[in-house]
Amino acid sequence: MTSVVERLQGDGPVFSIEFFPPRDTADEAVLWKSIRELEPLDPAYMSITYGAGGSSRDGTIRSIARVATETTLVPMAHLTAVNHSVAELRNVIGWYAAVGVRNILALRGDPPGDVYGDWVPHPNGLNYAEELVELVRSLGDFCVGVSAFPYGHPRSANLEADTEYLVRKLRAGADFAIAQLFFEPEDFLRLRDRVAATGCEALVIPGIMPLTTLRTLHTSIKLSGAPAPRRLLDRLEPLADDPKAFRAAGIDAVTELCERLIAEGVPDLHFYTFNRSKATREVVSRLGLVPARA
Ligand SMILES: Cc1cc2nc3c(=O)[nH]c(=O)nc-3n(C[C@H](O)[C@H](O)[C@H](O)COP(=O)(O)OP(=O)(O)OC[C@H]3O[C@@H](n4cnc5c(N)ncnc54)[C@H](O)[C@@H]3O)c2cc1C
Repeated sequence: MTSVVERLQGDGPVFSIEFFPPRDTADEAVLWKSIRELEPLDPAYMSITYGAGGSSRDGTIRSIARVATETTLVPMAHLTAVNHSVAELRNVIGWYAAVGVRNILALRGDPPGDVYGDWVPHPNGLNYAEELVELVRSLGDFCVGVSAFPYGHPRSANLEADTEYLVRKLRAGADFAIAQLFFEPEDFLRLRDRVAATGCEALVIPGIMPLTTLRTLHTSIKLSGAPAPRRLLDRLEPLADDPKAFRAAGIDAVTELCERLIAEGVPDLHFYTFNRSKATREVVSRLGLVPARA
């Protein structure tokens, strides 16, 4: 099974896609329609989140197993330390290996219910993603990714501490980091520079969400942990009552963001698809990241 890093070693930039596990059969049909629509565009890898927002953990294992066995895609499974003992984490990692998943995004995760609530580790569990990276690495030949935060993780005291702990988890054995959402190319590039300035050479990959609706804009603001820049709001908010025009302007804005990131040499654009394929297909086609035959 190919690793994510192997898939990022080509000459040009590539794209990758992220989904969340289905909660019911209707969700599952939507997920698989999107996966099948994106598969011919040859994304470098695809990932499925783990337990985020109350989604099913079994659903992650089931879906990633199906991707590994029934598609041509390179799968990456997310894994969080939330409410798991080390023995349970070993078990899930064993399952991933058994179904042919070689790539794992190792995360601490958030307290269930209130993401800003107190973090209470499982009594026999782990405290930070860094420890999960070490655990995954100790259990086999996995390619490991971690999360990064262009504006700093909400729990970090400042950007200096945030960078220190990010680099620690990369040095603990992670091959790359995927960034949370951000609005301006410079916001991501500064994160990349902070990591490089420590001498750490791990890849840092931007996370991208196509802004197709006012809701996706608000979700981006919430997830990024930063206010959207006035320039972007002035461009999109006047179109709030015209969904078609909003979508067109949002896709333009995200395509421009991606173009600038490509010009800055990013190896991969990681799309948060929210289990829909159309907007991602549009953006990657406009960027020329899809095979000619697709
Ligand atoms: C690309 C991406 C994918 C994600 N996928 C999921 C998912 O599938 N499921 C899900 O539930 N959530 C997911 N998340 C959200 C993520 O789990 C949360 O943001 C969580 O709060 C932080 O996880 P982490 O792995 O970054 O934690 P950590 O790296 O452990 O960091 C948490 C906080 O602790 C600090 N810290 C780290 N190490 C130390 C240390 N040794 N001493 C003191 N402080 C330290 C960090 O600076 C940070 O403030 C994802 C986020 C991103 C960006």
